Amino acid sequence: MSAIITAHQLSHHFGEGQLQKQVLFDIDLEIRAGEIVILTGPSGSGKTTLLTLLGGLRAAQSGSLTILGQEILGASKQQLGKLRCNIGYIFQAHNLLSFLTAKQNVRMSLELHDSFLEQDLDAIASNMLTAVGLADRINYYPDALSGGQRQRVAIARALVSHPKIILADEPTAALDKKSGRDVVEIMQRLAQEQGCTILLVTHDNRILDIADRIVYMEDGYLVPTPALDVSAA
Ligand code: ADP
Repeated sequence: MSAIITAHQLSHHFGEGQLQKQVLFDIDLEIRAGEIVILTGPSGSGKTTLLTLLGGLRAAQSGSLTILGQEILGASKQQLGKLRCNIGYIFQAHNLLSFLTAKQNVRMSLELHDSFLEQDLDAIASNMLTAVGLADRINYYPDALSGGQRQRVAIARALVSHPKIILADEPTAALDKKSGRDVVEIMQRLAQEQGCTILLVTHDNRILDIADRIVYMEDGYLVPTPALDVSAA
């Protein structure tokens, strides 16, 4: 499998001067096409910060980072914008727009992509919602959906444009065991069908078993993965 994200000696700090705080130290990480990689570790260890760097959402300050063949450090806004079209984001808070239905939320993601011009966006959005098990909730507003259903809409929205990479930050955090499990299994199945790579941040031991590889962070460093209970699902 070829590398889809390559980070070398990536470091990051917040603040400046006396308030400067280093949160990532010399991160070396390669993620290969089609892999499901889980990034785990204690709260505050730098997982989300690393995810935002690897997704091109935050500029890394030193080291080198290549995403989908594009060197990120020094890339123009235009290059970063183009890159982000190939990445789907799923966050703990689903971030759906409350005044749009499930279908309209998914459709909006398609409208951002030139490649779907002239296509029946409603049909594509409906099919995607059906694929995540929400055929009977297509015209519901987010407020009328359960937490697990809302997160499934967020998955549909992230995957509908067939991104090459999915970045998910604690996608099960607000969900009970069964809904959390459903959500990651749907994400796993669709990503496999689409040949999509997943990088998922979690401290939810119940979903670690879906990973091809688990990467562990501590105090801003990638460290050898300790023995984790991956059977807790
Ligand atoms: P995790 O995802 O593992 O919980 P984070 O990446 O969210 O860790 O945070 C790592 C460290 O960086 C924490 O000490 C956090 O307080 C700090 N941090 C995160 N975001 C910011 C920010 N925008 N400004 C300043 N410090 C931040």
